[in-house]
Amino acid sequence: MHRSDSGRETDRPLRLGIMGGTFNPIHYGHLVTAQEALVQFHLDKVIFMPSGHPPHKKDGEILLPEERYLMTVIATASNPDFSVSRMEIERKGPSYAIDTVRGLKKIYGESTEIFFITGADAILEILTWKDAEKLYDMCKFIAATRPGYCLEKFKKLHLLPNDTELGKKKPQVYFMEIPALAISSTDIRHRVCKGKPIKYLVPEGVANYIYKCNFYR
Ligand code: ATP
Ligand code: MG
Repeated sequence: MHRSDSGRETDRPLRLGIMGGTFNPIHYGHLVTAQEALVQFHLDKVIFMPSGHPPHKKDGEILLPEERYLMTVIATASNPDFSVSRMEIERKGPSYAIDTVRGLKKIYGESTEIFFITGADAILEILTWKDAEKLYDMCKFIAATRPGYCLEKFKKLHLLPNDTELGKKKPQVYFMEIPALAISSTDIRHRVCKGKPIKYLVPEGVANYIYKCNFYR
């Protein structure tokens, strides 16, 4: 049971979107994707989940979790349907989606419907996630198509839920078309390094914070 926008209690389970990422830095591609998922899938809110320090990345290659978390807060603060979780940045050791989903169900209730929002480029990775098959029972996935990734490729990989193959559990994946956004954190970091503009690629507050802290130079 939770309260709807109008404040009345509703019986339908809470629908929670999780937007996971490194957010190094967060950009409008992430924000548009989360907002589009919120509306298209009637989610109650989207939680941005900055990752902890990835074990395979050397120090210096990626900003500290706290710095990425702060940029994510700056970028999402004005949207009442968005919030940012510290769950993964505070977890000791590697972070697995299954632990995050379990943690969120503990906070929001077992009946909460969880939708993992990812870019279509990242969706194939879910097949390799820890306890993948267990995870498929606990949450659904929303894959945002990104320029250069065609849906046919994924259909061929039998990722769609109506493709049944005996004995093998399939993730439930919904595809979502989003306005073409060729924005990536990699490009933004390169731009900052070369002194090129990042205006209109990231929220103004995020750009100011990057310059203030001298990130990516
Ligand atoms: P990097 O270039 O450093 O890999 P990124 O731009 O891909 O960064 P991530 O933090 O790695 O950003 O991505 C977090 C999630 O957002 C992933 O699921 C990714 O697929 C998705 N994503 C990233 N950029 C876009 C975009 N422009 N449109 C839609 N989804 C995106
Ligand atoms: Mg990426």
